[in-house]
Amino acid sequence: MTGARVGSALTDEQRAVRDLVREFAADEVRPTAREADETGAFPEDVWDGLAELGLAGLTVPEEYGGFDADETTYAVVNEELAHGSLAVATALSVHCLVTACLAEFATEPQRERWLPAMAEGRPVGAFCLSEPHAGSNPAAMATTAEHDPEADEYVLNGEKQWITNGSRAGVAVVFAKVDPDDPDSITQFLVPTDAEGFAVGPKEEKLGLRASDTTPITFDGCRVPAANRLTPEGRGLAAALEVLTGGRIGIAAQAVGVARAALEAAREYATEREGFGDRLSEVQSVRHKVAEMSTDVAAARLLVREAARKAEAGEDARVDAARAKYRASEVAMSTTNEAVQIHGGYGYTREYDVERFYRDAKVTEIYEGTTEIQKEVIARGVFDTR
Ligand SMILES: Cc1cc2nc3c(=O)[nH]c(=O)nc-3n(C[C@H](O)[C@H](O)[C@H](O)COP(=O)(O)OP(=O)(O)OC[C@H]3O[C@@H](n4cnc5c(N)ncnc54)[C@H](O)[C@@H]3O)c2cc1C
Repeated sequence: MTGARVGSALTDEQRAVRDLVREFAADEVRPTAREADETGAFPEDVWDGLAELGLAGLTVPEEYGGFDADETTYAVVNEELAHGSLAVATALSVHCLVTACLAEFATEPQRERWLPAMAEGRPVGAFCLSEPHAGSNPAAMATTAEHDPEADEYVLNGEKQWITNGSRAGVAVVFAKVDPDDPDSITQFLVPTDAEGFAVGPKEEKLGLRASDTTPITFDGCRVPAANRLTPEGRGLAAALEVLTGGRIGIAAQAVGVARAALEAAREYATEREGFGDRLSEVQSVRHKVAEMSTDVAAARLLVREAARKAEAGEDARVDAARAKYRASEVAMSTTNEAVQIHGGYGYTREYDVERFYRDAKVTEIYEGTTEIQKEVIARGVFDTR
């Protein structure tokens, strides 16, 4: 059987990509993760390395120099990178959301201007949807984009919050209302980060994902040409939700990657550590914990693969992506928690990586739609009220 795909099995090509990224994550990403977490500095060398592998072009069409990965490959890359560092995987997945928006909605000259360079890793992309008072409910956003007909420009004013790659980015996809009083007027814009009136705030001090760059961004009379409007007026939110289905599959895959890293760390520690005369790996309660963790990781991965398969087949994968993200992020939390427990007191120290996995895992329940929002999406699917 060559290249054929059975159930959730990978094709030969997908397996080759997985092995390549797994090796890169083990050799180049994981060794930098602890220091990057401690200093809070994003590892730019690692970014350049992943760009050299072509990963910055994962969601860039081939004609612009990209990889144009199918959804399963996208998920596999996210799992492997997050196994090395969730901060790096997050930076890449946000960059990929931006290139996906440009590939889907930008004009031809804009695609030619931005996509080949972004496929090579620079400029980095930022996705500016959330605001201080509008996260789960983006319709409540206050950022506006007023059309100036004389200059044929839009003038952006407002503040975005929690923007990944905030200070690293050279280009941003920004959501704003063209009519401040109309929640249905959200529109998507392409904004170079050197535009006048675009300002990046200080980095957030976070519980985990500390190497990932998360900042507020303000727009103060920031002008962009009308040609930088990526969607028709009022179509911005629907467009965001379209790319976020793929994004959520990626985050779910990242959650699997962190959970797998925690499981492996627990297995290693339990194999070495002795307690009550036995190695921990021979103590039944520890063995059962590890059995549960292993089953949870495998089950979460299956949900991710099923959502990816549906998206790849062009089917509506919104509910599947929400199920995968909800369950996989919960598994990331429970698995990292048990990994700390198996390490005992050492698990609570910086000496072992499991405390970082535990701190990092939490964010997978929050960003790109909280667990509660995923459950709403799933419930709407169950009651068929989408
Ligand atoms: C590290 C990090 C990186 C991020 N990166 C980005 C980025 O690059 N770009 C970007 O645009 N955003 C980004 N975000 C923002 C993220 O997507 C939001 O934090 C998230 O959507 C939740 O919004 P909020 O923080 O305003 O919480 P809120 O919406 O205020 O929610 C607070 C709580 O109320 C619950 N809740 C709210 N509404 C409902 C409801 N209708 N039903 C049930 N429960 C509800 C939520 O589930 C949550 O538990 C990032 C966030 C973090 C922490």
